[in-house]
Amino acid sequence: MAEADFDAIVVGSGCAGAVAAYELAKAGKSVLVVERGNFAGAKNMTGGRIYSHSLKKVFPDFEQEAPLERKITHERMAFMDPESQMAIDFTSPELAEEAKDSYSVLRAPFDQWLASKAEDAGAEYIYGIAVEELLKDERGKVVGVRAGEDEITAEVTIVAEGVNSLLCERSLGNPRPKPSQMAVGIKQVFELPAAQIEDRFLVPEGEGAAMLFVGDCTHGNVGGGFLYTNKDSISLGLVATISLAADGANETPVYQMLEDFKNHPAVAPIIRGAKLVEHSGHMVPEGGYDMVPRYVFDGALVAGESAGLCMNMGYQVRGMDFAVASGQMAGLAAVKALNAGDTSASGLSSYKTAMEDSFVIKDLETFRRWPHVMEGWSNMFTDYPVMAREIFNALFSVDGEPQKPLARRMMPIVKKRGLLKLAGEVRKAVKSL
Ligand SMILES: Cc1cc2nc3c(=O)[nH]c(=O)nc-3n(C[C@H](O)[C@H](O)[C@H](O)COP(=O)(O)OP(=O)(O)OC[C@H]3O[C@@H](n4cnc5c(N)ncnc54)[C@H](O)[C@@H]3O)c2cc1C
Repeated sequence: MAEADFDAIVVGSGCAGAVAAYELAKAGKSVLVVERGNFAGAKNMTGGRIYSHSLKKVFPDFEQEAPLERKITHERMAFMDPESQMAIDFTSPELAEEAKDSYSVLRAPFDQWLASKAEDAGAEYIYGIAVEELLKDERGKVVGVRAGEDEITAEVTIVAEGVNSLLCERSLGNPRPKPSQMAVGIKQVFELPAAQIEDRFLVPEGEGAAMLFVGDCTHGNVGGGFLYTNKDSISLGLVATISLAADGANETPVYQMLEDFKNHPAVAPIIRGAKLVEHSGHMVPEGGYDMVPRYVFDGALVAGESAGLCMNMGYQVRGMDFAVASGQMAGLAAVKALNAGDTSASGLSSYKTAMEDSFVIKDLETFRRWPHVMEGWSNMFTDYPVMAREIFNALFSVDGEPQKPLARRMMPIVKKRGLLKLAGEVRKAVKSL
């Protein structure tokens, strides 16, 4: 067989692809990255905050080099009904500790930095063209890609084209995710001077806040809202299930939910006077472990969201740290297979072993029940935020009438929902978390 054009081809230069390319180039392998955007990050979107642990393993000096927005040291989770918000607000020095820290990022600058690391290490890039198909030899081994008119060959191909991978479906035979496993995210970015961000979010200079919202932000449907502070802007958005977004009977389209969310009394003051500068939408895989497909093939590996690696726990959203870690593991497994002269599925199998031994597959497996619990837990998005409002109104309202003891004020509110039912629901949720 003719010699391949490259040792490796990487499809997509998001978090997973750029890191895989970096590892291959660093090991002296010839690697081509094909990115459909006109530049890395052109088409990418996240909430978003990246937990830094996996990035640090690839780039120990990332904190000095990467275009990070703010170190997140202020967390908030909020239950909303149409007029109220009950929030858990948390700050702690542990959130800023090395390897436990997390940062808000904007994908256009962040992905360009990741791509520059791969390019500096020796990776070649083609921008502005999409890979349409994986090439295979007569035995079915992946031997490269077709992008536009070009057929380019490689010993190993790493598919890192993000969510809803058509290459995995069409060329590798992985199943299309079910609608229940997919969500749609929409996000807007608002410019606000750094000092105002620090005042409004009560954070020291350079530090930032992450907020997750449940309840009225999605009009009581499964999903949630998010807010992250950047250096001088705020990322604000919603994630809703695809079935909700596609349901013609749903009276409120997702973009209207975002408008209503922005006008909620707990959110409007945060973005008051801020200038809307960006609007984007993207899909998010939400099926957890049960949607992770096969990710090692003869001549090919699958990394990042193309392998379904994403986890939305309601209190943590993780996709970028999974993408970085899986990109690194795929890159290193490809190097190992190339060095051994065996890029068959068996030669590439160290990727599967590394993934299964890592937090990526372990965390997805540990929390595999959570997506199902959330789907069937409508009270979480409807009645619980109302209950929180009633409880906290009973706690904080003083009208001069003689007050009943606290327990007698609370019990009717809880009993109305059925104490046993409530305890059962909470127990089930806690077990899946
Ligand atoms: C609304 C929203 C909020 C989120 N919030 C967070 C968060 O706060 N924290 C977090 O960790 N994660 C978050 N995520 C998830 C996170 O963004 C993803 O898990 C992560 O970006 C996946 O990285 P990836 O490299 O697998 O894919 P991507 O970053 O999507 O990169 C894929 C790349 O492949 C390119 N590409 C696609 N098809 C082709 C093709 N055929 N040929 C060539 N190039 C191609 C794309 O242009 C892109 O550059 C969020 C996602 C959304 C949508």
